[in-house]
Amino acid sequence: MNPFITLKELKAKLDQKELSTKEVIRFYGDRIKKYQPKLNAFIEHFDDVQAPDIADKGPLAGIPIAIKDNICQKGRTNSAGSKILANYRAPYDATVVAHLKTAGAVSVGRSNMDEFGMGGSGEFSAYGPTKNPWNTDLVPGGSSSGSGAAVAAGLVPCALGTETGGSVRSPATFCNLTGLYPTYGLNSRYGLIAFTSSTDQVGLLTRTVYDNAMLLSVTAGKDERDATSLDVAKKDYTIGLDGTIPAGLKIGIIKDAVEAEGIDPEVRATFLQAVEQLKKLGATISYIDLPNLKYGIALYFIISRAEAASNLYRYDGSLYGARKMDATNLADMYLGTRDEGFGQEVKRRILVGNYVLSAGHKDAYYNKAQSIRAMLRAEFNEAFKAVDLLISPTAPMLPFAIGGLSQDPVAMYMADYFTTPNCIIGTPALAIPAGFSKNNLPIGFQFFGPRLSEALLYKVAHAFQESTDYHLKTPAGYE
Ligand code: GLN
Repeated sequence: MNPFITLKELKAKLDQKELSTKEVIRFYGDRIKKYQPKLNAFIEHFDDVQAPDIADKGPLAGIPIAIKDNICQKGRTNSAGSKILANYRAPYDATVVAHLKTAGAVSVGRSNMDEFGMGGSGEFSAYGPTKNPWNTDLVPGGSSSGSGAAVAAGLVPCALGTETGGSVRSPATFCNLTGLYPTYGLNSRYGLIAFTSSTDQVGLLTRTVYDNAMLLSVTAGKDERDATSLDVAKKDYTIGLDGTIPAGLKIGIIKDAVEAEGIDPEVRATFLQAVEQLKKLGATISYIDLPNLKYGIALYFIISRAEAASNLYRYDGSLYGARKMDATNLADMYLGTRDEGFGQEVKRRILVGNYVLSAGHKDAYYNKAQSIRAMLRAEFNEAFKAVDLLISPTAPMLPFAIGGLSQDPVAMYMADYFTTPNCIIGTPALAIPAGFSKNNLPIGFQFFGPRLSEALLYKVAHAFQESTDYHLKTPAGYE
């Protein structure tokens, strides 16, 4: 069996009974065990899972899936990559997990991640870094690092990640995958361990655009238990994926995408090559200036830290997870639990978050960020009157060395330059492979659309993939 088979092909083989669900689960389970020492993609592999009987199951019957460790799976540990939740067991399934189970998909484990989603490299996991299958000296991107590495190495055909400001698209890019940040509210957040509630979304990692659309058709939907869930009817996102783009489609290159400082020349050249391909497919291309885009990182920095400090307040030893057992008084228990339980990056963010929310600084930072957020939203809305979609590189740099940036948090934050702005305003983006560097490292680019434009994003990106083969390349050594 080809481990790099697409979800679509795997489903066809299962439907035609060329493969049994048991064989599929065993095949991937063996691969997960084999490559775990090399990649550390999983915090826990479930080798006790049952293959469902295909006859009475839904559209993803027997499809193995990796689930990021901050998405609740009933009865399983859910650590969010943190020591503080090392022994926390989820009492219920996240809504997206429940949808997947109903569809017959089989969760094969908890994928590794930066603690609470705070990171872009996978190095800030309390369970050790995940390695990039394309080169194990390099980071796989993050924070959905294990999900990215697992799909890229053919350990699962698809995975759930989560994204607050790039955490699905970053591993998609560094691992040569397709990654979606959906419109805020399209996938339920019920059962997702909160980091930045106003931008957190469950995102999807697959090998192809078509597979991504298959998965979103299952995960999306109104959820009464998430007050921010959108009232959108369930639909089949694979409909309309025919290899063409809509006649007269207008695509805007975000000016910063080629002009901003610090974009790796190979990333820029590969991106411009992708633009040529879109022209060949019939798109009309122009440049769009988004003058507030450069504030995206600063906005994200302030808003995400503020919300993180509030959301993580609950981990003090009294309700969830670990507790400092030898504390002599209440304050010591709170502080000791947090000191022992949180990693360095999480602590750094809580400090900044409390600072920007504090009485003397709230107006200067948090409130100001909220008003610039509104300006950024207006600017994107205006752009989407002139063009149907916007494009940019996904990450400004190539996958970097493990340990290379972890001591320089500001440099690491800049990796999110092109992925934070749309999260801040809750609009979707789809990252896909664009080509390779001289050293055979994946480079990605992304499409941005207005709210609920997933069908159009998929249609155009699918046409790109039908006319190119970058997404079909797989790393050596995982045959
Ligand atoms: N890399 C970003 C951060 O460090 C994004 C994280 C995410 O999307 N969860 O916060």
